[in-house]
Amino acid sequence: MTEQSFPLVLALNYHHATGEMAPYFEALEVGRARASKCPTCGDVRMPPRPVCPDDGTQTEAIDLSGAGQVAAVTHGDAVPPFGDHATPQSFVLVAMDGADNFMFGRMIDAHADDAVAVGTRVRLAGAQGASPHPSGAAVFKRDQDQ
Ligand SMILES: [Zn+2]
Repeated sequence: MTEQSFPLVLALNYHHATGEMAPYFEALEVGRARASKCPTCGDVRMPPRPVCPDDGTQTEAIDLSGAGQVAAVTHGDAVPPFGDHATPQSFVLVAMDGADNFMFGRMIDAHADDAVAVGTRVRLAGAQGASPHPSGAAVFKRDQDQ
């Protein structure tokens, strides 16, 4: 008998709870930056970490200004995380003011002829309509207050 293969489609419906990240996602919705700070070494993370990645200490919640500077950008037609169709996007890594790491997000307006550049000052813009995941509220706009 010859070995055969059969196509199978496996699907999983899953409700992922925001849990202890709920205050971070709620802040993102309204354009605020809820970060974490390690009381032992002072490490500040945005997005927050419940436990310091360097020394394992339970972190404390702090609020950052919501502003930062673009450290890297990728522009092009892409399907956003948890999205279902490609649209023009500018995904950015942002060095948030006061944080020791980078935050991933997308620009509020992504135009190929005016893509945001590395070094541009940006600020969290808040949720832009419904998103299939609360991380979809990680949206930045150019900072007009610099
Ligand atoms: Zn620490």
